[in-house]
Amino acid sequence: MLEIRGLEAGYGLTTVLRGVDLSVPAGRIVAVLGANGAGKTTLNMTISGLVKARAGSITFEGRRIDGLSPPAIAEAGLVHVPEGRKVFPNLSVRENLDLGAYRRARGNKARNMERVFATFPRLKERVRQRAGTLSGGEQQMLAIGRGMMAEPRLLILDEPSLGLSPLLVEEMFALIRRLHACGLAIMLVEQNVAQSLDLADEAHVLENGAFAMSGTAAAVRADPHLQRAYLGL
Ligand code: ATP
Repeated sequence: MLEIRGLEAGYGLTTVLRGVDLSVPAGRIVAVLGANGAGKTTLNMTISGLVKARAGSITFEGRRIDGLSPPAIAEAGLVHVPEGRKVFPNLSVRENLDLGAYRRARGNKARNMERVFATFPRLKERVRQRAGTLSGGEQQMLAIGRGMMAEPRLLILDEPSLGLSPLLVEEMFALIRRLHACGLAIMLVEQNVAQSLDLADEAHVLENGAFAMSGTAAAVRADPHLQRAYLGL
């Protein structure tokens, strides 16, 4: 579904991604793990068109998307939910969700919003509340709900558990499981290595802008380097 080959990207004179190869098959959960500064956010931003690829290719459902604008990429069905709950704080919950409905999905806005509310009843109760006054967990739900409004086939979740209490982290991982059960492919970018490996089919570990390890989640979990460096075993 998503195929990345030899991807290079960076900022000014800095190269961050140095030849990334990644496949996300339809209907799978693929985890991209890595420490702070490994290049996870840069990878997501390059896939979603916010950072320009310097070399390599990104293909989604058989079509080259590197070089397309961020709205055109979302329109194609690949939706990036950014880290840090980047909702519009001064807009209401409903207005934030409205902004997620891209051209293709605009006609189905009411139906899609009902689906978001069915997934996140708490957002329905707060539909007129300013997003900036929601709790951290609720803002994260809103960010994912906004992504759902675009009718994605592949969802890239950037650190969805960041800053959440342990209970909410559990809820978030359960939610990702539910989204996946509805047929969505998910690229899960996380620092929470143990829980991500529980959820994912495949995992890739990013170190210094390239994958140091790739395989099934079970194989990656069994790797002694991963256990030492990321699980403290
Ligand atoms: P974290 O988990 O801490 O967010 P990350 O794996 O997402 O880390 P990136 O945010 O992709 O890592 O950063 C990778 C490298 O790129 C870092 O060394 C960072 O300082 C650098 N970097 C990120 N954004 C910029 C920018 N706008 N200009 C210059 N360098 C940047």
